Amino acid sequence: DDLERQEMWKAIQDALLNDHIDQFRAEFLELHPYDQARIFEEMDQEVRLQIYTYLSPEEIAEVMEHIDYEDIEPFFAEMDPRFAAQVFAEMSTDDAVDILNELDKEKVASFLTIMDDEAAEEIKDLLHYEEKTGGSIMTTEFVVVKAGMKIREAMLHLRKEAPDAETIYYTYVINEDKQLVGVISLRDLIISEEEWLISDVMNERVVSVSVGEDQEEIARMMRDYDFLALPVVDFQDHLLGIITVDDIMDVMEEEASDDYSKLAGISDVESTDEN
Ligand code: ATP
Ligand code: MG
Repeated sequence: DDLERQEMWKAIQDALLNDHIDQFRAEFLELHPYDQARIFEEMDQEVRLQIYTYLSPEEIAEVMEHIDYEDIEPFFAEMDPRFAAQVFAEMSTDDAVDILNELDKEKVASFLTIMDDEAAEEIKDLLHYEEKTGGSIMTTEFVVVKAGMKIREAMLHLRKEAPDAETIYYTYVINEDKQLVGVISLRDLIISEEEWLISDVMNERVVSVSVGEDQEEIARMMRDYDFLALPVVDFQDHLLGIITVDDIMDVMEEEASDDYSKLAGISDVESTDEN
């Protein structure tokens, strides 16, 4: 409620004013990243610079994921470039790519140079996909297992991967050539016997979308099939990424406002049209 909010706000400001890192972290990190982002946006630059030193790149990445990507450029510009690169590396690759697409090419190149190779490679790949396609909205943090694994092994693997996965609700099954051959839900995993094989319980009829598929069509499929995520494959069925339902909600909002602009006969939508 209101009083509680006021108290929280005051505690955060006190902590910042008195340079009490622990108190700041305790109050701030207790909030949902959406609320953290709203507070963060209210702060003066001086205070934001202070906050960057109080939080880890991973913690700042969560905040950044809840700021509109059109408004985000100044924040990355004011960060130490090394810190900024680390923040990008910690973000979901789809969110990092949305933001990098808003920055000028030189800036992007310099961030990618500082970033460690693995993170930079994944992001570079995603930057190549055409706007509004499956490739441009997918993320690469998905969980895969092999069909020959036992349920026990798969659960151990999932437990290890879970902290960084975009969703743990579906685990995808790939073959030796990294082709998508099955899917298994978390529910199916936890109700199976540990000794069973993945191939015994996986669903082999996987619904997937191609990397070049239009985002509007993907939104339609997500709605029709009621899945929480859809896998994205290339023309040879190699699993490249996943698209989760929360990203599709953003797409639907974007497409709805595009359609509205068209209906209203607004011709100059180019500047707001970018993904
Ligand atoms: P249910 O609703 O059947 O009880 P659930 O709640 O565990 O299952 P849902 O998200 O509803 O999971 O998914 C239903 C089923 O669809 C799961 O068995 C899951 O393995 C399967 N599934 C998930 N993604 C795909 C996909 N891309 N293609 C085909 N099947 C999928
Ligand atoms: Mg269900």
